[in-house]
Amino acid sequence: MSYEIAGETGTWELVIGLEVHAQVVSEAKLFSGARATYGGEPNSQVSLVDAAFPGMLPVINMRCVAQAVRTGLGLEAQVNLVSRFDRKNYFYADLPAGYQISQFAHPIVGAGKIEIELGDGSRREIGVTRLHLEQDAGKSLHDQNPTRSYIDLNRAGVALMEIVSEPDMRSPEEAGAYLRKLRTILRYLGTCDGNMEEGSLRADVNVSVRRAGEAFRTRCEIKNVNSIRYVMQAVEAEARRQVSIWEGGGTVDQETRLFDPQRGQTRPLRTKEDAHDYRYFPDPDLLPLVLEEDWVEALKADLPELPDAKRVRFVSEYGISHYDAGVLVADQATADFYEMVAGGRDGRLAANWVLGDFFAALNRTGRTIADSPVTAAALGGLLDLVADGTINGRIAKDVFEAMVDTGEGAAAVVEARGLRQVVDTGLIDAALEAVLATHADKLTEYRGGKEKLFGFFVGQVIKGMGGKGNPALVNDALRRRLAQ
Ligand code: ADP
Ligand code: MG
Repeated sequence: MSYEIAGETGTWELVIGLEVHAQVVSEAKLFSGARATYGGEPNSQVSLVDAAFPGMLPVINMRCVAQAVRTGLGLEAQVNLVSRFDRKNYFYADLPAGYQISQFAHPIVGAGKIEIELGDGSRREIGVTRLHLEQDAGKSLHDQNPTRSYIDLNRAGVALMEIVSEPDMRSPEEAGAYLRKLRTILRYLGTCDGNMEEGSLRADVNVSVRRAGEAFRTRCEIKNVNSIRYVMQAVEAEARRQVSIWEGGGTVDQETRLFDPQRGQTRPLRTKEDAHDYRYFPDPDLLPLVLEEDWVEALKADLPELPDAKRVRFVSEYGISHYDAGVLVADQATADFYEMVAGGRDGRLAANWVLGDFFAALNRTGRTIADSPVTAAALGGLLDLVADGTINGRIAKDVFEAMVDTGEGAAAVVEARGLRQVVDTGLIDAALEAVLATHADKLTEYRGGKEKLFGFFVGQVIKGMGGKGNPALVNDALRRRLAQ
């Protein structure tokens, strides 16, 4: 599926590469023992190392290293047994050391890949260039006081993974799909919570445009985009801006820009800095990071089942479509919920219920799986009542709605409301005769050859029984009666 921007002088292809900053799930920061959790009182989670007091020494937190390695393994990437930390020098008020400890020439993780799926069902592989570990900076607060700025160092020193993609994406949709898939993988691994509103996952979006078949042209980088929707909008807006520059006879300058969601535009922040501007050099306070192969292997053996593998398993184990499996595995809680409903039952029916009525009920009530009024066990119980013939499929919908409203189990709802399926053929026959008497005209039409009225009669009989008639028995009885 090719995506192009139609300009005045022809069409343009998009080239997109993402640099994603993912905050590592860890109790403590990358080089200090201070807490790394979100939302504490300003400056309540700051050690002397984070505040860059003279003479303090960073000590690597191996928990963060393990998380980075696990992420690399989850991206099927090369794990480098020897990597190194560098100082990236720059001045900023929320960076008290005057440098950020990062990895430049020797990252902990090398090339990997992520498979994305697009709306038309097609799949593409996007290359991951590298993943490295670095510290986050503090936060400047400009909105607390009219004349002063404040600095909160809680975030200073928190471990980030920077995950850099190859310039492999060609449309806003691909960029969105990449980020969504990456977030899913990180959440499965438990290495980043993926919470974009809190800033634990943010993307720098690199965009350029070119004529089909051409070499890459100059790119611009849009900094710190904090939602998937904004990433897609920013790509589109920036690509259009560049197209109009090229078509107007100008040249695109490499620069760093910001996306303004209100205006739907990007605007310049600064001209692009190069690596030499940062004067990177190996941090003399830290030894090279050397990993044991056995340790990496142990982490690998311990990885959870990841979404791609789970999807393949769902298709073969439960007989559901690739598409449905993809929706179910996109979120771990949904996948777990589905497996609890489907286990030992009809997998397709379970998928229909989870993706249909169940999701609709969550949307309507504003709940999530975690606080859903209907548990997986309760939904499974409802399916069991359909399977053993206690209720029919139509009544099951009503029972489910009652379960959502009351939080009661399926059996309790069925008993309390007398919704058991009617299998008494005497009652079915009586309802049937009543329907044929009321619709004598239709009966004549049916006898005259309008056979599709059969379904209408079935529906009327079941309706006449308050929806509780057993559809198979009603069908049998009608067939026998109409054959007379
Ligand atoms: P830097 O380290 O200066 O930011 P990199 O070469 O590491 O530059 O690339 C950063 C990001 O920009 C990567 O995600 C890469 O895929 C992307 N990128 C590189 N060249 C282009 C281009 N011409 N158009 C779009 N994205 C690009
Ligand atoms: Mg960069």
